[in-house]
Amino acid sequence: MFNPDDITLFMVALKFAATKHRQQRRKDSDASPYINHPIEVAHTLWEIGGVRDIVTLVGALLHDTLEDTDATPEEIQTQFGAEVLAVVQEVTDDKSLPKLERKRLQIEHASHHSTRAKQIKLADKICNVYDLAHSPPKDWSLKRCQEYLAWSEKVVAGLRGVNPA
Ligand code: NDP
Ligand code: ZN
Repeated sequence: MFNPDDITLFMVALKFAATKHRQQRRKDSDASPYINHPIEVAHTLWEIGGVRDIVTLVGALLHDTLEDTDATPEEIQTQFGAEVLAVVQEVTDDKSLPKLERKRLQIEHASHHSTRAKQIKLADKICNVYDLAHSPPKDWSLKRCQEYLAWSEKVVAGLRGVNPA
């Protein structure tokens, strides 16, 4: 199913994401290492979603690198190819826009994404909602967590059908 080149690509993506996110932490009260999250998204796609498409799995590992690190489209294109770059760009918010506008656009764009991007977004929302439920940021009120859930539900509405599992 996978050839050695696929495994190599996956390993290089793991190392690339770990390096790019190395000084970042998640928002949970333990301030978990950031890399745990992209690994969890890739693992969710593999284990629950049954996804065996290498571009989607590599895209999951890299899904927050353009948005949250100094990684560039050129680096991703060179190391992982045009298909991976395309999917990572699809799941990357335009950070020049205000936060609330970015959140509105995620809802609006969800149903227009490629199948690969929809699967990554779905796994990303599943992981973030799981994290909020099990280990919420210390400074988030219940109301804020509930608002995040309500927003996630609206994004996921546009992703439905892409992976029933
Ligand atoms: P943020 O967008 O600030 O944070 C949520 C994002 O943080 C997630 O989508 C996830 O993105 C990432 N993340 C990192 N660690 C975790 C974790 N442990 N659990 C879940 N997600 C995690 O939050 P909001 O959507 O609530 O904020 C939207 C705007 O509203 C911001 O400008 C915020 O400052 C403002 N605001 C809202 C309040 C409210 O009560 N709703 C109160 C104060 C401010 P990824 O996977 O991409 O890393
Ligand atoms: Zn994410």
